[in-house]
Amino acid sequence: MDIYEEFKIPKVINSSGKMTYLGSSVLDPQVAEAMYSASQSYVHMDELMDKAGERFAKLCQSEAACVCAGASAGIIIAVAAVITGGNDWLVEQVPYVNVKRRKILISTGHCIHFGAPIKQMLLLGGGIPVEVGTVCKTLAYHYEEAIDDETAAIFYVKSHHASQTDQLSLKEVIEIARAHQLPVILDAAAEEDLRSYVQMGCDLVLYSGAKAIGGPTSGIILGTKAWIEACRKQYHGVARPMKVGKENILGLWMAIEKYQHSSSSVERQLAIVQAIIQELSSVEGLTVSVAQDSAGREIYRAKIVVDEAKCGMNAVALDRALKLGNEVVYTRNHNANQGILLLDPRVMKEGDAEIVCGKIRQILERRNER
Ligand SMILES: *Cc1c(COP(=O)(O)O)cnc(C)c1O
Repeated sequence: MDIYEEFKIPKVINSSGKMTYLGSSVLDPQVAEAMYSASQSYVHMDELMDKAGERFAKLCQSEAACVCAGASAGIIIAVAAVITGGNDWLVEQVPYVNVKRRKILISTGHCIHFGAPIKQMLLLGGGIPVEVGTVCKTLAYHYEEAIDDETAAIFYVKSHHASQTDQLSLKEVIEIARAHQLPVILDAAAEEDLRSYVQMGCDLVLYSGAKAIGGPTSGIILGTKAWIEACRKQYHGVARPMKVGKENILGLWMAIEKYQHSSSSVERQLAIVQAIIQELSSVEGLTVSVAQDSAGREIYRAKIVVDEAKCGMNAVALDRALKLGNEVVYTRNHNANQGILLLDPRVMKEGDAEIVCGKIRQILERRNER
């Protein structure tokens, strides 16, 4: 029995991805058990935060680490950390901090909306977002020109949401920041690599605990000891309403432990995608193939190209029809207006491929009978 039936919410078949709006991740039983155990006793939260931070730092090979409520909370906390430097008085003033250095440089191509606009998070942390470059081209001189004595940090976004055309690499941005003694904050919310970015020289890197890591609603900030201490201080200020419960801290810990030891899931992904290709191969008007993640991650999805003339409906209409009924199917529909729907095997449970393919067939057959 699905507990959401109690609330009369239709069952969701997720083939979209690790989406916050669909509940992000389904938890591994060991993660759920860790959360249950955590819920059964009292613990001094500061001590838990300290010790968990140490564990996370070790697991991610970072100098230090700090738990947060999610990547968006991590952005706010990281920005507040660089602006206040962890000064107790300034911490209590965020977001209205009376200091000179408050500008946070961000490429226009990185000014994304992940469910909320990223610039709003920079403001909440006390930053003043300063866009550099353009949507499709941001070069070194754009950053160089914008840096002045009011600049507090450079913010970089590693995500499929961000523009991938003519943006400087993270490495190049770190070099520019180093030359001006500015910290680099990296939003790596959905990234799978928990180690490289701090090693590359980012000062603060934040992740969503519920995306690639597969944990509960939570997040993690990695970075140098001094900056992470400044992050922790924010829990006596702007981060107070973003606190993380003991259950989620321990759930995140177990998820990271498991994540580090899980062998590549690529085989499983490809097996599901192949099954989808087989299931849909005979459907007139659909062309199904394997497509690697557009941001280059080790994610392989089923790419369905919908021929509107042959199907009698376009991809947008098919996507909409999939969301009707008792079993609601969510696809990865960012490119639906171009006739493309993607199915993400990572989030599909046993049997989901059959359900999704069956529903697609049914919708198109019914349409063609008319
Ligand atoms: C999802 C996402 C966020 C927000 O993460 P939460 O953990 O939901 O707060 C921020 N930045 C990027 C690039 C994201 O993909």
